Amino acid sequence: MRADPKSHGLWELTAPAPADTGPLVGDAEADVVVIGGGYTGLSSAIHLAEAGVRVGLLEASEIGFGGSGRNVGLVNAGMWIMPDTLAATLGSPFGERLIEPLSRGPQKVFELIEKHGIECELERAGTLHCAVGRRGLQEIEMRAEQWQQRGARVVLLNAEETRRKIGGGIYTGALLDERAGTIQPLAYVRGLARVALAAGAKIFTRSQVLAASDTGSRWRIGTAKGSVNAKWIIVATDAYGNGLWSQVRREQIHLPYSILRRGPCRTI
Ligand SMILES: Cc1cc2nc3c(=O)[nH]c(=O)nc-3n(C[C@H](O)[C@H](O)[C@H](O)COP(=O)(O)OP(=O)(O)OC[C@H]3O[C@@H](n4cnc5c(N)ncnc54)[C@H](O)[C@@H]3O)c2cc1C
Repeated sequence: MRADPKSHGLWELTAPAPADTGPLVGDAEADVVVIGGGYTGLSSAIHLAEAGVRVGLLEASEIGFGGSGRNVGLVNAGMWIMPDTLAATLGSPFGERLIEPLSRGPQKVFELIEKHGIECELERAGTLHCAVGRRGLQEIEMRAEQWQQRGARVVLLNAEETRRKIGGGIYTGALLDERAGTIQPLAYVRGLARVALAAGAKIFTRSQVLAASDTGSRWRIGTAKGSVNAKWIIVATDAYGNGLWSQVRREQIHLPYSILRRGPCRTI
């Protein structure tokens, strides 16, 4: 299992079972078709269904097959890029318009989890960005100052405070981001699917979208065994798209990434 890069690893062992879903068979109608069963697609499906919109969600594999079911589980309030750099790059007012919802992101996630009682090992204890050496410390000092100017709940810890927080280590300091937290990612995405179903969304798994044609007033979305007609589509395929929306793929870069765990490991 560990040698399979598409395995959900440890997350699979501790996540609740997925909701009972299956492939789309035959023709269906919806107001909106959502393509992709990760956080983006399911969050869209929940909010639309709660607003009374008829939603059909098509997932090529299983719920959480993509990044949503295999990430680290950090609920971060921002990007790695510094807030000032983001603001300068996008210009006014677009930079701050992006930074503000990013900052509120964890709160939104926590509210959704608590409102619907999603079992996903939520921890709201914040996250630590630990600094290595003098340059690392300067970087988190800058980051702290830029966030604090925007009123964010971030606290700079010195080396001793950092050691006490994590029980050792040689870090020169840390940025405690009190807005952030952690979740069990696969459990969360499976929980979102249950919430979407309860709100009235129709979810079809093992239903890869193979064709999409715009007939002028409606979209016709085809899978191997069926199709959905809808006025709107939301493409939430992340980097897993199969070439139907090449413009989405062009915006992405391929970055190999591994999650390493320190200390004794259980064989899974
Ligand atoms: C190793 C790793 C660690 C990460 N750690 C973190 C972290 O700690 N914190 C954080 O905030 N973010 C993290 N991320 C990023 C985060 O996981 C993603 O940003 C997020 O999951 C994207 O969600 P999504 O719904 O947009 O896409 P995905 O979850 O990738 O879902 C896209 C879905 O679309 C489906 N699909 C694709 N093509 C089709 C088609 N033609 N028809 C039907 N379905 C289709 C796929 O099967 C897939 O299930 C990490 C990512 C990785 C890879």
